[in-house]
Amino acid sequence: MIITRPRDWARIKQNLVDVDAKSVFIMGCGQCATVAGTGGEKEVLQAKTKLEQDGFAVTGWAVGEVTCHSGGTSLETRKHSGDLDAADAVVVLSCGAGVQTVADSVRQPVFPGLESVFLGNVVRHGVFEERCQMCGDCVLDKTAGICPVTTCPKGLLNGPCGGMWDGKCEVLRDRDCTHVRIQRRLIEQGRGGAKLLPPKDYSKKLKPGSVNIRKSRKGGAE
Ligand code: SF4
Ligand code: SF4
Repeated sequence: MIITRPRDWARIKQNLVDVDAKSVFIMGCGQCATVAGTGGEKEVLQAKTKLEQDGFAVTGWAVGEVTCHSGGTSLETRKHSGDLDAADAVVVLSCGAGVQTVADSVRQPVFPGLESVFLGNVVRHGVFEERCQMCGDCVLDKTAGICPVTTCPKGLLNGPCGGMWDGKCEVLRDRDCTHVRIQRRLIEQGRGGAKLLPPKDYSKKLKPGSVNIRKSRKGGAE
């Protein structure tokens, strides 16, 4: 899931002042931002109170089921068209993908209410960790299912670095070094030790990413 954190409130306020907005509609997200505790109903209502305390009128709010889903978001914005029409601007409590989806669906200026920080594993309730940067050239087949480029703070494909001490990471001292873990697991699995990995092909991570499974289902024809 996409992990978000609250954005500096003064910055959001300044965004609204810059476009001379007096009234605001707030949109949250029922998926990742709800699970992350940043953009669900509770946080949307907290944002509403804050905006009102700062002198803005809140014309309405909604928590879209999946705010990055174009169809769902345009349905949600149509459902709230009256409240949206009355607003000078929209603040979205979702990841950047959701903010852009809302911006495509409404005529007003749309501002992010959160910072998008990483693709996160839910380690346990309320605890998230970054384990994949979606590089497009996965090496987990060679590294016993442990991502070196994401979980090593230096992003080293091959390691350990010279700062590793007693199996612990030089940067995150309370954690085992990623490359020690990789080596250990490969040996436990009877796969020998870690082999030197060639440089990753970052051309496989082209931006913006785009996948069209409808096309492939139809044998290449859209
Ligand atoms: S190598 Fe790491 S960053 Fe790349 S896809 Fe695999 S898990 Fe993700
Ligand atoms: S000690 Fe290991 S995990 Fe930490 S920065 Fe060095 S190579 Fe990366």
